Amino acid sequence: MDVVTNLKNIENNIKEACEKSNRNMSEITVIGVSKYVTIERAEEAIEAGIKNLGENRNEGFLEKYQAIGEKVNWHFIGTLQSRKVKDIIDKVDFLHSLDRKSLAKEVNKRASKPVDCFVQVNVSGEESKHGLAPENVIPFIEEMEQYPNVHIVGLMTMAPHIDDKERIRENFKDLAHLRNQIKEKQYKHAPCEYLSMGMSNDYSIAIEEGATHIRIGSKLVGN
Ligand SMILES: *Cc1c(COP(=O)(O)O)cnc(C)c1O
Repeated sequence: MDVVTNLKNIENNIKEACEKSNRNMSEITVIGVSKYVTIERAEEAIEAGIKNLGENRNEGFLEKYQAIGEKVNWHFIGTLQSRKVKDIIDKVDFLHSLDRKSLAKEVNKRASKPVDCFVQVNVSGEESKHGLAPENVIPFIEEMEQYPNVHIVGLMTMAPHIDDKERIRENFKDLAHLRNQIKEKQYKHAPCEYLSMGMSNDYSIAIEEGATHIRIGSKLVGN
């Protein structure tokens, strides 16, 4: 399918999910995940109206960033090794995978200005997943105050790979609840307003449960 058609379908689904949950479409940012596709295909997505791209590996990110430049916002959505932080940190607009103190320390040291970060949370508790256990998130965020270049804008999660829609929904609800708890604390370094959750197969549910950033690869650009 061409990207224009795919994006139209996605936008229709976003509209429907927003109507169901009494939300405004302007609250939702669509991140086009370009990790599976060529630079040309990523450019097609931009022409179709995508203003945010996401990559999950340093090499892929740098390749796309160098070709496409700063006409989009760049989201780093994958696991980031501390030793690779210096290569990308001043090029990314949002880091979605902050999950440990050593990474925060390196981001703080290498970035030349504050970086907007999402704390990645392993809501489902699956062993294969990265991210902090929910009970460790608030203490972790409190520790981040010592790093002036780490600015916590939200929480991110990946739903488990299952068909049970209600269990997926519970994961998103839990993340939204945790976000609300943190927001209430009004930390200066961690306003934590955003929720990065929802991918090709579950973004409608994520929006119904409060997602502000959805990360869509296969249903937008293909794989
Ligand atoms: C690949 C990836 C996505 C996009 O996945 P699709 O199911 O293809 O939409 C979203 N988030 C993260 C962290 C990813 O690695």
